[in-house]
Amino acid sequence: MTKQFLQSPPSNTHKLGEFELIRDIFKTRAEQMMKAKPQHAPLLGIGDDGAVIASRPNEELVITTDMLVADRHFFADADPYLVGKKSLAVNLSDLAAMGAKPTGFTLALALPKQRQAWLHGFANGLFDLAELFDCHLIGGDTCQGPLTISITAFGVIPSGQAIKRSGAQVGDSIWVSGELGDARLALAHHRNEWSLNLESKDLDQVNQRLHSPVPRVALGIALREIATSALDISDGLLGDLRHILEASHVGAQINIDALPRSQVLRRQAQAIQYQCAASGGDDYELCFTTNSNQHDKITKLSAELGLPLTCIGQIIKSQDENSLILENSDGVPLSPKQTKELQRSFDHFRD
Ligand code: ADP
Ligand code: MG
Repeated sequence: MTKQFLQSPPSNTHKLGEFELIRDIFKTRAEQMMKAKPQHAPLLGIGDDGAVIASRPNEELVITTDMLVADRHFFADADPYLVGKKSLAVNLSDLAAMGAKPTGFTLALALPKQRQAWLHGFANGLFDLAELFDCHLIGGDTCQGPLTISITAFGVIPSGQAIKRSGAQVGDSIWVSGELGDARLALAHHRNEWSLNLESKDLDQVNQRLHSPVPRVALGIALREIATSALDISDGLLGDLRHILEASHVGAQINIDALPRSQVLRRQAQAIQYQCAASGGDDYELCFTTNSNQHDKITKLSAELGLPLTCIGQIIKSQDENSLILENSDGVPLSPKQTKELQRSFDHFRD
């Protein structure tokens, strides 16, 4: 038993948010071990969308884990087909953010009781997505317990080409794929949260965005040689962007009116549009940075993929406390209070 193991835990552990908890309890110790045993260290450890380890000559393996807990990440009575699809999609989204091509995954499943119909639906959704991306189920674990799905996905990338959160440079352009905020709008409708202007066909569209996200795998692969940094937007754009800013030691200036939104979201009150697009979770779009001279290349890529790619701002020097400046399209900065509120992304231990 090591000395560290015998030390009593910090007394304020229960007050830590999700990311402080990972940093203080796991990342610090893992990094100490990497320094002590560099010959076995990964090429990239905790803190990005996936870890990177050396594999075959000229190739690296990207590994990521995402867990879905019933009534936390999905409604326990949700369509099992969609739950199966989404469980894998959120993992492939992390691989896409690293620029990796999916190859395989393991599946750990806790089930309250055996329900054949649920399992068949779940497996159909899972394999339909797996087949679409040539990603093979290679193992896992099954036990009884509260409904929980944990997938570890593996992808490959040519050596040295993984797109990290730490590569953004001052002057870079900041981009997002697709449209933001529809999944949050669907959740607001389920929760009866705000006064919404939604017709039934609008509801179908936003529900689809919540329950059936599309991992941007082709985009991630195309970005290997273009992007300086990237991540996938799972907890809300501005909160997630903060991870790039911290890892790259830079700041950002964002035009909030430039955030790409669907027609359905644009029909809602402005405050709802801002909140859904800037801090709503479950988008699974990519946010990435490129050198500012890459705009023509990105326009071409957008046309090739049939996927909107929108420039939403630029990387600036970090101004300590104030690493994010939010402006509207007239160049008027939002108040510090509003900026802070819109940066609040989902945190499992705070929300
Ligand atoms: P993402 O939203 O991209 O899936 P997370 O926000 O879940 O990433 O996690 C942030 C980072 O912390 C990732 O690098 C992830 O691998 C790591 N991480 C999360 N939980 C743990 C844990 N319990 N032990 C070690 N690393 C963790
Ligand atoms: Mg991610």
